[in-house]
Amino acid sequence: MSAHAIDGKTLAEGLRASFKARVAALAARGRRPGLAVILVGEDPASQVYVRNKVAACEAVGLFSEKIVYPADVEPATVLARIADLNADPKIHGILVQLPLPRHFDEKAVLEAIAPEKDVDGFHAENVGALAQGNPRFIPCTPYGVMKMLEANGVDPAGKEAVVIGRSNIVGKPMALLLINAGATVTVCHSRTRELAAHTRRADILVAAVGKPRFVTAGMVKPGAVVIDVGINRLPPEEGGKLCGDVDFAGVREVASLITPVPGGVGPMTITMLLANTVEAAEREAGR
Ligand code: NAD
Repeated sequence: MSAHAIDGKTLAEGLRASFKARVAALAARGRRPGLAVILVGEDPASQVYVRNKVAACEAVGLFSEKIVYPADVEPATVLARIADLNADPKIHGILVQLPLPRHFDEKAVLEAIAPEKDVDGFHAENVGALAQGNPRFIPCTPYGVMKMLEANGVDPAGKEAVVIGRSNIVGKPMALLLINAGATVTVCHSRTRELAAHTRRADILVAAVGKPRFVTAGMVKPGAVVIDVGINRLPPEEGGKLCGDVDFAGVREVASLITPVPGGVGPMTITMLLANTVEAAEREAGR
């Protein structure tokens, strides 16, 4: 039997529509939520991500400010701008598009963002709060995954969850969220031995590896929920299309629910960035 494909695009559209009323209510009180996005350099993928983030803000009525620096900018210039944004009442969320050029200390830049404006959830204080089960901002991609599980009636409590990938952006916060939701969590990564022995136990399998069609049908427990975070560009000889970390055609014959790429986790990520920015503005307005 073929798995049901989770439609991230429709879920994202519904959530974004629900934000409009919250944004309008804040704007009516003179507190329109504002997001500042900082881009350093000309990486084409980063340019696309930043453009999409700004467009998504505008579509739900958020104020957005795009700040672009050349790749050779002095880190002190960027840090000074972050300090200004920290103090700017129009701005409720600050996001620095990663990766930064090599001469930057990425950690120092992330730590310079005021924790209450850190809508990516990468500041050590916010990572700590998430680890303690009391999150202030949840990193957008794993937050989107949790929303997809919830919307499809998947309660992680008591389930075996396996996350492939241990990055600070996806794998680690994903594992923390699943632990906080009551799952028994295994985190696999590049040093894991017998990967399939772990993945075959998973009721919920999350792939965040960055390798096209890495997860195959034989690695999946029958009836599992499979979440594909990967976004990979296939080489031109294979059509140049976007492709996830999961072999969708094969795995959907084994799983019960599966996210496609594109149209799965991707649209949820920016949606949860908007959610975090609206939440930040609501918190500030309530103070
Ligand atoms: P990353 O490169 O930082 O991490 C990849 C992880 O995969 C590492 O922890 C590594 O240990 C693990 N890994 C590599 N080879 C492995 C192997 N053979 N077996 C087991 N584990 C292995 O990447 P990331 O930033 O976490 O992103 C992962 C994927 O998700 C990428 O394709 C990225 O483009 C995508 N992504 C998508 C979204 C979205 O909005 N959908 C957001 C962020 C990242």
